[in-house]
Amino acid sequence: MPVYQGSCHCGNVRFSFHAPEIVEGVRCNCSICEKKGAMMGNFVVDPSDIDIQVSDDFLATYEFATHIAKHHFCKQCGIYTFHQALRKPGHYRVHLGCVDGVDVLALPYELIDGASL
Ligand SMILES: [Zn+2]
Repeated sequence: MPVYQGSCHCGNVRFSFHAPEIVEGVRCNCSICEKKGAMMGNFVVDPSDIDIQVSDDFLATYEFATHIAKHHFCKQCGIYTFHQALRKPGHYRVHLGCVDGVDVLALPYELIDGASL
């Protein structure tokens, strides 16, 4: 599997991960994804397949409702980089807009009906 590199806008949160070739994304209509407007990967990354490098404790975590999903973002620039998935706790779903070399606005995507789950 290829290795991808990603970062938030200011660069205080950097990550690299192994994933299948990125040719499609997912969007979701749940309460938080609708507000983020993010294009996520259509795969989840095993914790052993992601390397997260954060300077000076800049990674913040937002939780709500069941507190199972962990929505991570950079404290400095506010960008959502990845989250730990609700349906696969401890595994990561990444924001493709943060991934180097991915033309996120050109990717086809599937819409997940997270609002009904
Ligand atoms: Zn940042």
